[in-house]
Amino acid sequence: MDSQAFLAACRALLGEVHVIADEAGMAPYLRDQRGRFTGRALAVLRPANTEQVAATVRLCAQALVPIVPQGGNTGLVLGSVPDASGRAVVLSLARMQAIRQVDAVNRTITVDAGAILQHVQEAAAVQGCLFPLSLAAEGSCTIGGNLSTNAGGTAVLRYGNTRELCLGLEVVTAQGEIWNGLRGLRKDNTGYDLRDLFIGAEGTLGIITGAVLKLYPQPKACVTALAAVDSPAQALRLLSIMQDHCAASLTGFELMSAYCLQLVARHFPALQQPLAGSHRQYALLELSSSESAQHAAGLLERALGAALAEGVVQDAAVAASEAQSQGLWRLREHIPLAQAADGKNIKHDISLPVSSIADFIAATEPRLQAAFPGCQLVCFGHLGDGNLHFNVAPPPGVMNEDFLHSQEAVNRVVHDAVAAFGGSISAEHGIGALKRDELARYKSPVELSLMRAIKAALDPLGLMNPGKIL
Ligand code: FAD
Repeated sequence: MDSQAFLAACRALLGEVHVIADEAGMAPYLRDQRGRFTGRALAVLRPANTEQVAATVRLCAQALVPIVPQGGNTGLVLGSVPDASGRAVVLSLARMQAIRQVDAVNRTITVDAGAILQHVQEAAAVQGCLFPLSLAAEGSCTIGGNLSTNAGGTAVLRYGNTRELCLGLEVVTAQGEIWNGLRGLRKDNTGYDLRDLFIGAEGTLGIITGAVLKLYPQPKACVTALAAVDSPAQALRLLSIMQDHCAASLTGFELMSAYCLQLVARHFPALQQPLAGSHRQYALLELSSSESAQHAAGLLERALGAALAEGVVQDAAVAASEAQSQGLWRLREHIPLAQAADGKNIKHDISLPVSSIADFIAATEPRLQAAFPGCQLVCFGHLGDGNLHFNVAPPPGVMNEDFLHSQEAVNRVVHDAVAAFGGSISAEHGIGALKRDELARYKSPVELSLMRAIKAALDPLGLMNPGKIL
């Protein structure tokens, strides 16, 4: 089947308007989130339901057309955009947004893969439940994308990554068959766990079309605080104190260096910074209580009191209202925006055993300074789950574009240190096309060959998001 016959068959299947093949119409689907790369495609296909996804995949298999699944296109590793060849189609799940069912007794919600994360949170809330996955892109990212990247976010400490929030999947295989694994079971030991293969596979094994997700009781109250500490080591000590005092009530624990908050102040001066004076590091803490606001406040007061008494915390501000709490989170969420406004930088999304984080930072920052004198570390992240965004900005006077030529050398310093400390080069964003060569460098030959065997077994024609991960 030639490409014109293929497109005609797609139009007959999906309808004229849902096969976009003109440059202007395709543009938003081809450009990556950070605007670093724009791919080319034969067309953008927008199926309306699982059966149409399956029929589209069968057409692609027949015509040997590669498929790039796409949700909200908010991914940060060039996973959701096609390469420059123009041979692939983008298969957008944007029309598949249904909330299929909420089972408040089983505490599950079943959704189409194209459902926007925020809509899923809202549908759960209407039933008095919490869907706890939360990230700054929640207004546009989709459940299919969240599952395919095993997204993390701000509540992993308490509720886990997206993988831990998923009970069942519906998947269209690379052959165009529909696997209905939409089981709302918390226990199911019936052979290989296919669900977990597709989660985190970044669209390289099949297309997720639906999911059963876990719900939790809505907390009665949340309390947020910002604490100033002297060093990452002190932030880790504070984390231990908080966990000892608050156990599962501690839902978030973020680290932000002083430089991160200076960047936010420079580019978003309207955002209020509640702590006076200059401190080296800041921890943003969130506690939730299933009892009451007084209970949450009491827990926080006792834990912060212990940390102050031990000299771990230098100063702290506790949000007195929902608006103040949102104000504190806005500081954290504006760090990537402030960084982007400040210029280009070389980003790393790494994870380490929590206990190694302070040693990792202490060992790696001087190595970066030795190799790139004057470079600026922009270090923040989900400290509670060992995830740092360890970004490196150019030294003063060095042009952004010139510094980006050092990306390979900067990556080597950071990722070699990550490997030496037993960490991972991708904590929550995935591999996509951006980190494929890094993956090949740091995974063992045994692990890589097992991954290739799985890929060959599930996608023998190699049409599912080729060039991503492997
Ligand atoms: P896309 O970007 O469309 O796709 C991501 C990958 O999944 C691609 O490989 C794509 O091919 C594949 N895919 C998409 N849908 C499907 C499907 N239905 N079936 C099979 N494969 C599919 N990520 C975090 O983990 N934590 C954060 O805190 C976080 N914060 C962010 C903040 C901002 C401001 C931005 C822009 C991004 C952030 N991200 C974060 C990254 C991004 O939002 C997540 O990776 C998100 O899960 C991607 O969802 P999406 O629907 O946009 O997927």
